[in-house]
Amino acid sequence: MQEFTHYINGKHVAGTSGRFSNVYNPATGEVLGRLPLATPQEVDDAVSKAAEAQIAWAKVNPQRRARVMMKFGALINEHMDELAELVSREHGKTLPDARGDVQRGLEVVEVCMGAPAMLKGEFMDSAGPGIDLMSMRQALGVVTGITPFNFPAMIPLWKMAPAIACGNAMILKPSERVPSTALRLAELFTEAGLPDGVLQVVNGDKEAVDALLDNDTVQAVGFVGSTPIAQYIYGRAANNGKRAQCFGGAKNHMVIMPDADLDKAADALIGAGFGAAGERCMAISVAVPVGKDTADKLVAKLLPRIEALKVGPYTSGDDVDYGPVITPASLERITGLIASGVDQGATLVTDGRDLKLQGYENGYFIGPSLFDDVTPDMDIYKEEIFGPVLCNVRAETYEEALKLVMDNDYGNGTAIYTADGDTARDFASRVNVGMVGINFPVPVPLSYFSFGGWKKSSFGDLNQYGPDAFKFYTKTKTVTARWFSGIKDGAAMAFKELD
Ligand code: NAD
Repeated sequence: MQEFTHYINGKHVAGTSGRFSNVYNPATGEVLGRLPLATPQEVDDAVSKAAEAQIAWAKVNPQRRARVMMKFGALINEHMDELAELVSREHGKTLPDARGDVQRGLEVVEVCMGAPAMLKGEFMDSAGPGIDLMSMRQALGVVTGITPFNFPAMIPLWKMAPAIACGNAMILKPSERVPSTALRLAELFTEAGLPDGVLQVVNGDKEAVDALLDNDTVQAVGFVGSTPIAQYIYGRAANNGKRAQCFGGAKNHMVIMPDADLDKAADALIGAGFGAAGERCMAISVAVPVGKDTADKLVAKLLPRIEALKVGPYTSGDDVDYGPVITPASLERITGLIASGVDQGATLVTDGRDLKLQGYENGYFIGPSLFDDVTPDMDIYKEEIFGPVLCNVRAETYEEALKLVMDNDYGNGTAIYTADGDTARDFASRVNVGMVGINFPVPVPLSYFSFGGWKKSSFGDLNQYGPDAFKFYTKTKTVTARWFSGIKDGAAMAFKELD
């Protein structure tokens, strides 16, 4: 059994709290190791060491900082398979999906290689007589990233790369369910030339998070996780005077218009609804076909596709479509919600609850489930299931479908499938959701744009990664400079009246 550590000042450091949490392989239920949960004292110590390191790091010129990013990116590429294996082992997602997890984080590192261009300020020549104005972007100091279990590589990279490229030091508090990838990334960052202390990985639970939120040296908090925790962290961080952006849960809808290519829509729903066992904040969990005919045809197309899905451990090879969910508690929550859907009157078209995998009886596997005739008052509609369950809510008209999306509490992502440009434009323009796909099911923006939801999917200002990240991780200083005319006019040789 592995003894996990923290990563402080470029070294693995054992925990001192005597409190641990087990890390599991969700495909087998086997305990992989135990993770130390940091005390407030350990957190404060990591922060003060980071504060010392940050002073020197902020003075390294931006281009040299970018060269560390280049080396880091090269090392991530070199270790892609190893990182993907770490992701799969603790999270359970398939290896190709785990590679995608690393890849979409790497792309943010790649944008950070261009940080110098993003960090340039503004200048106004001759704003008044002899007066120039300039604004510069300066690092905040020590910042923290608190990340969820479902993207063990991508989201820690979304946090650490922009923060560090801007000249900050980062305390990363990864999910206690999947610590290995973040720890390995920290080692690779050190190998890339990052000075010790600029990235500290502190493992822990609420106690460590609260210590970070209450530490006066920590200037900014970047959180990703469930909505109740996002709202709590946003409130406590803001109350303590910190900059905070806290991204929460989701309930993403896909509207399917009668003119849509239904084969393509069905394929998209299968990937977006069941990929990674539905444990994605950009998963599509609600399909909204418009019109009875569209709904009937869509369900008929989904059925054989769902029946063909292969569920299994990542070690079974590339023909597995998705793996286990993260914990027995998740499994119980998902099966409980499926039972509630049946009780509350939805039609359970496919029931994934009976799946048993020979040799993996202790794993947290669940087959794909499809509900039809779901209505907005049901728990399966109201709650984020975060499992392989797709709900079909039938709408009579486009306006009814749009209203459903708009009335939902969450606003992370949404998609529309249609052949009509006018409908697509109207949807993109009116919908109150942060990321919109047009004939595109999972519209996670590429790394030179930025990612963020609306409504209860996000608290605070600015999106994560892309141009917004360079604003979030720096503060603006504006200088107004006046220079009086003087030596350039030369020495006054003549005896003359003064101006
Ligand atoms: P979670 O909220 O349980 O945990 C996220 C982080 O918060 C972890 O590091 C955890 O240790 C910490 N935490 C948990 N409880 C805490 C508490 N009471 N006080 C302080 N810290 C606490 O989320 P999760 O289960 O790891 O991740 C799944 C959730 O994340 C889903 O709701 C999903 O939609 C969401 N998510 C959102 C985005 C986004 O960008 N909007 C991206 C990925 C995941």
